[in-house]
Amino acid sequence: MSPSEGVVYLVGAGPGDPRLATVRAVELVAAADVILYDRLVPARLLEHAADEAELVYVGKQPGRPSLPQEDINRLLVDHGRAGRTVVRLKGGDPFVFGRGGEEAEALADAGVRFEVVPGVTAGFAAPAYAGIPVTHRDAASAVAFVTGHEDPDKPESALDWPALAAFPGTLVFYMGVRALPSIVAGLIQSGRAPAEPAAVVERGTLPGQRTVTGPLEQIAILAEEAGIKAPAVTIVGPVAALHERLAWFGRAPLSGRRVAVTRARAQASGLAARLEDLGAEVVQVPAIRIEPRAAGLQEAIDELGTGRCDVLCLTSPNGAELLMAELDRQGLDSRILSGTRVAAIGPGTAAVLRDWGIRADLVPERSIAESLAAELTAQGVRDQRVLIPRAAEARDVLPRELEQAGADVRVVAIYDTVREELDERRREQLADADYVTFTSSSTVRFLIEAIGGVERFPDQARVVSIGPVTTQTARELGLDVDVEAERHDVDGLLDAMLNDALTPAP
Ligand code: SAH
Repeated sequence: MSPSEGVVYLVGAGPGDPRLATVRAVELVAAADVILYDRLVPARLLEHAADEAELVYVGKQPGRPSLPQEDINRLLVDHGRAGRTVVRLKGGDPFVFGRGGEEAEALADAGVRFEVVPGVTAGFAAPAYAGIPVTHRDAASAVAFVTGHEDPDKPESALDWPALAAFPGTLVFYMGVRALPSIVAGLIQSGRAPAEPAAVVERGTLPGQRTVTGPLEQIAILAEEAGIKAPAVTIVGPVAALHERLAWFGRAPLSGRRVAVTRARAQASGLAARLEDLGAEVVQVPAIRIEPRAAGLQEAIDELGTGRCDVLCLTSPNGAELLMAELDRQGLDSRILSGTRVAAIGPGTAAVLRDWGIRADLVPERSIAESLAAELTAQGVRDQRVLIPRAAEARDVLPRELEQAGADVRVVAIYDTVREELDERRREQLADADYVTFTSSSTVRFLIEAIGGVERFPDQARVVSIGPVTTQTARELGLDVDVEAERHDVDGLLDAMLNDALTPAP
């Protein structure tokens, strides 16, 4: 096999919570040329894909037949033969009721190299998130994963009811929500105790996860009454009763809330991770993209190279990252800044600098231009050369005030903030958001443009703004702002949201 041949990775995406994807899965998604994915694959995992990667949805579409398995197999083989890095991303584990076995066989038959990346399967993850250990020293020393049938009219002959009823441990049924009555009947008729505890976990590990528990003989009716739908797993065994005591999921402050993050994809992950730690379901709806300006970057570097620049002001994480990365690309490093004071607006900007080995001399109290201008002026900037590499479109405040204080200011546009188009998937995710977060004026402006006007903004969503400048832009565009951060950075934004989420509605 030549190195130019492609490899097909059969990758488990985990049960739904994007943080339950393995490190290997994330790595491969980022490296893939082509990703073929199913319905239950977390959208957040796909965000790791490269911009150039081709994403192909091969799951079920409402009202349309799903792609036949042979077609999927053929796609995998063709992409592999074409020398691509192919990720076949499947919910949970690829070899647990995922038809991954068939895909591996097709690849083996075709002589295409493949690897398998196991995933966290719903069969124990959904129970775990519901506080149900599938084995327990006192209550279950074995566990069986069983597939129910989606369609109760299909012959049940595949399942050996007497053997399952006699199984000495926990039974976990995948699928078969609609077939639950026949599963219950099959087990009880073959001798499983009608009073044995059972549980159904719907949307395990996902926001909105629900659990219904009860004795086996009643579980089907209880699930139906609760309106349980796929995806769900059913657990039969004494361990199911532990849900009462051990349920833990869904108790974080933002649990059950869907929060849209509109900042550029490259900057979204920090905020997204923090929101998830607070229990939120994060949807990424990037409204903007950063496009570097090569000439501007060169101009900024040339200016620093003169050695006569007294102060460098970096006003955003983007600006800091672009400048430092470009220095690095040119074989230069932070020593170009020796003798230059470095000022950064916002802890995020300071953090980027720290990653490049630079400690900012000044990070103003408030993360806005006015605050930086005031603090720099207080330190004295008269006759000093100040370089401000930043977005092409930005407010005048900082250069104007520094000039008024007697500084020799040079503003260089090193990037443009441009609109990111929203695909259908992101549009749908936005439509159901409980909160939409805006971290800059450009995110508001371009999001409204991308959805085709403020009338299309989801009614129920609460608007969260990072500060007064962003708020003002939103209001000018006709968008009501429900929450404004007191501190104009990510922490401040999270605080304000938490406050809002925990305040009971009037
Ligand atoms: N390969 C997957 C299973 C695919 S079969 C895995 O290892 O998890 C699809 C079935 O898995 C669904 O019908 C449901 O029974 C179960 N399932 C998948 N995700 C689930 C979730 N988040 N919560 C509960 N059940 C889930």
